[in-house]
Amino acid sequence: METPPALPAPALAAPAHLASTPPARRRIVIVGGVAGGMSAAARARRNDEHAEIIVLEQSEHVSFANCGLPYHLSGEIDRRDALLLHTPESLASTLALDVRTRARATAVDPAAQTVTVATPDGEQVLAYDALLLAPGAVAVRPPIEGLDHPAVHALRTIPDVDALRAEVERITAARGAGAEPPRAVVVGAGFIGLEAVEALSARGVAVELVELADHVLPPLDAELAPLLADELTAHGVGLHLGTSAQSIRPAGPAGAPGPSEDDGRVVVALSDGTLLPADLVVVNVGVRPASDLARDAGLELGRGGAIRVDADQRTSDPRIWAVGDAVEVVQAVTGTTGPVPLAGPANRQGRRAADAMTGRRTTPQAPVLGTAIVRVFGLTAAVTGASQAALGRAGIEHEAVHLHPAHHAGYFPGADPIHLVASFGMDGRLLGAQAVGGSGVDKRIDVLATALRAQMTADDLAELELAYAPPYGSAKDPVNMLGFVAQNVLSGAMPQWQAWQLEEAVQTSLVLDVRSAAEVARGHVRGALHIPHTELRARLDEVVAAAAGRPVKVHCASGVRSHLATRILLAHGIDASNLSGGWLTLEAARRATPPHTASPTTPEEPVMCYPVACPTCGKTTWDGCGMHAEDVMSSVEPSQRCTCR
Ligand code: FAD
Repeated sequence: METPPALPAPALAAPAHLASTPPARRRIVIVGGVAGGMSAAARARRNDEHAEIIVLEQSEHVSFANCGLPYHLSGEIDRRDALLLHTPESLASTLALDVRTRARATAVDPAAQTVTVATPDGEQVLAYDALLLAPGAVAVRPPIEGLDHPAVHALRTIPDVDALRAEVERITAARGAGAEPPRAVVVGAGFIGLEAVEALSARGVAVELVELADHVLPPLDAELAPLLADELTAHGVGLHLGTSAQSIRPAGPAGAPGPSEDDGRVVVALSDGTLLPADLVVVNVGVRPASDLARDAGLELGRGGAIRVDADQRTSDPRIWAVGDAVEVVQAVTGTTGPVPLAGPANRQGRRAADAMTGRRTTPQAPVLGTAIVRVFGLTAAVTGASQAALGRAGIEHEAVHLHPAHHAGYFPGADPIHLVASFGMDGRLLGAQAVGGSGVDKRIDVLATALRAQMTADDLAELELAYAPPYGSAKDPVNMLGFVAQNVLSGAMPQWQAWQLEEAVQTSLVLDVRSAAEVARGHVRGALHIPHTELRARLDEVVAAAAGRPVKVHCASGVRSHLATRILLAHGIDASNLSGGWLTLEAARRATPPHTASPTTPEEPVMCYPVACPTCGKTTWDGCGMHAEDVMSSVEPSQRCTCR
């Protein structure tokens, strides 16, 4: 057994230059040499120059940028060695760390304070004074037949990305220029799945994306997800939502689509009967905590099998700490517990654990917000805090406000819309926010994440003083606007209704559309009264007559003009409310479940109506709510029929 030179040392050793005798060396052993483990190792060294710090890493690489893997696959990070932030040699020379790769911890004996390690040279037993478990997560293996086929890949490690790149290059070269591109099926449309889709597309691979949930990026609320779906389809990605991969079988002569002999291609069968031919399958359906070592050592586990730790990252054993994807955290807003596999928390936890292990004051772990971001071609999607769905599950009453502001002053060239949703408690407290857009999403979500950490309210957001000049933002930044709108809603100044209440609104209320005639012609709510907001004051009688005592549900394109209209109606004693996010949110939310389009087979009457174009020339259009073009053509007045026929 390899024993540490001296056991145990005081938590706070005297500085070496003041000590009359050489300080005792404590041995800190760290299992896992990437995000959490390596943060802890580096911090522990800075805290304690004299400790013996051994890092055990089962793979060949330590301190690699796993978040950068998709961008090496795409070619944006072209140099592979850019992902390798350190080597055992560089860590030995800069931080005097004893980093052992291909060294897998196989057992921990808390009573004896030892770790058993499997290495290429055989088994070793290491004694420790303090042990940190940072083993990360393991990929979930979904129940798909044929998951062990060589065409099936993961995207978690350097060897994974090497294999994927090599395979794409091999297939592309074998087929030759101008030939059919390689085809990939990506299973799982979470953060890493979407990054894999983007990266493969950048390599010229034709990608089909399969997701069991009914929308891409399941942590995103349903009304934002169609924006990402559009972006994916605009870049040629085939979407298969609400469906699962059932089997992966070699493509062959047995009637399956694909080549006539087994050349490594496969066919992925989906639960809806679709067969997708593929050269590659990338499976990324989530991870689970790598907590087997901890469980076998008798450490307490929490929800989802994650290692239970206290605010200093200490496990149920006083000499063992744990960090990263393997540990249980508390969600800041809902108070639910479970693992949150993100790099930021892992790195901060590593730093905290090092402080705790070396006897320093720690900043106790705060509940986790789950702030995350992903690029999907030209769009960015980001989340922080609790989604509307999570709030619903936790039974937390809230108001969600939807906004579509420009990311900087609208009059400055290049303004991109940001689609923002934020949820507020009935006491005004910000509970969560999500955004999808072209530019400026990252900045807003980071401001909102900071606001969440500071437990800010709608009033606080309204008063935030943020940097502004036309190329960067607006004098009323989108974050301020969220505060303003939430203030109006929560104070009762602007009662609102939500897109998911549309059916009920059509049945029980008068829907008042205050957009321009041109906007209405591009799509409208069935039976809505149309009065542009500029004419509303003069036409209030029409509203009163049409409402016939029913509430008035107002909408415009984004919620801005309808806010004004709602205030006018309320001032005249009319029971009115404003659609949160307007037609833009309505369309996106309706597309989360397919919208009613003009179709004679639609069983119920459609609620959202779109113009129908002449099937011959495509120029003349009619309001064909609920009907096919041919039916519209035969039902309209002869004078209104298309002249092309
Ligand atoms: P890891 O960094 O995974 O390190 C654990 C290490 O422990 C592994 O190297 C493993 O081999 C080793 N190990 C496990 N068991 C043993 C054992 N018994 N003995 C020895 N060694 C062992 N997060 C973000 O916030 N943003 C992103 O953009 C992002 N992108 C990502 C992209 C990809 C492709 C992947 C895979 C992850 C991404 N993540 C991202 C997640 C992030 O990388 C993880 O949350 C983070 O690395 C977790 O840190 P960790 O230290 O817990 O585990």
